[in-house]
Amino acid sequence: MKKSKGMIIVITGPSGVGKTTLSNRLVKEYDDIDFSISVTTRNPRSNETDKAEYEFVDPEEFREYIADNKFAEWALVHGNFYGTKRSTLKKALENKKNVLLEVDVQGGMQIKGQFPEDAVMIFIAPPDHNELKRRLKGRNTDSEEVIERRLFNALKEMLYIDNYEYFIVNDDLEEAYRVLKLIIETEKYKTCRREYKF
Ligand code: ADP
Ligand code: 5GP
Repeated sequence: MKKSKGMIIVITGPSGVGKTTLSNRLVKEYDDIDFSISVTTRNPRSNETDKAEYEFVDPEEFREYIADNKFAEWALVHGNFYGTKRSTLKKALENKKNVLLEVDVQGGMQIKGQFPEDAVMIFIAPPDHNELKRRLKGRNTDSEEVIERRLFNALKEMLYIDNYEYFIVNDDLEEAYRVLKLIIETEKYKTCRREYKF
């Protein structure tokens, strides 16, 4: 039997669908799941602090990270750069923790390619386009222009659903969270993730 290995939980879905809401709940409830803090060139929102939600850097620093091969994946998303540091994944997996990545479809595909056994690919879908718009507006964090761009990009992102092992429609939050936990709990029982001696 193989040694127990942590999983890389990849959560993807259009902006405003509820990824952060679901992820925050999960990392709060599960001590064995670390949230991967991404690096981004996006400006911080009023409720965000550096190194909590993201590591906020300028484009020059981001370029240096790329040149130094610091990223396990990176992508240009809605006009800003976002990336996951290799060291974040390494640290979590070495400590036998599971790590949760909230990444776009480009990042998701890069992680799936590099870690086909460790990645658990979960797509969060909105009930419909109007509800997605309502959530983006209701969140009150982005300008009209930014919201329009994110809604347009949502149409392209939805085409990637088939590349994910699981998809959850985040209509009722409690139900979506219940299913998310069900997936994580089940994945933990995969033979490749168990440690067992007889
Ligand atoms: P994302 O991280 O995918 O961009 P957020 O988690 O920031 O999305 O959620 C966007 C907004 O939608 C937030 O205001 C959040 O409270 C709200 N929201 C999340 N899930 C639901 C749901 N199931 N029903 C209604 N509103 C939701
Ligand atoms: P936001 O600006 O709303 O925080 O995030 C916008 C988009 O960037 C979301 O779809 C989110 O999943 C994606 N994103 C956040 N961090 C990363 C990352 O490290 N890599 C990639 N590829 N996408 C990310």
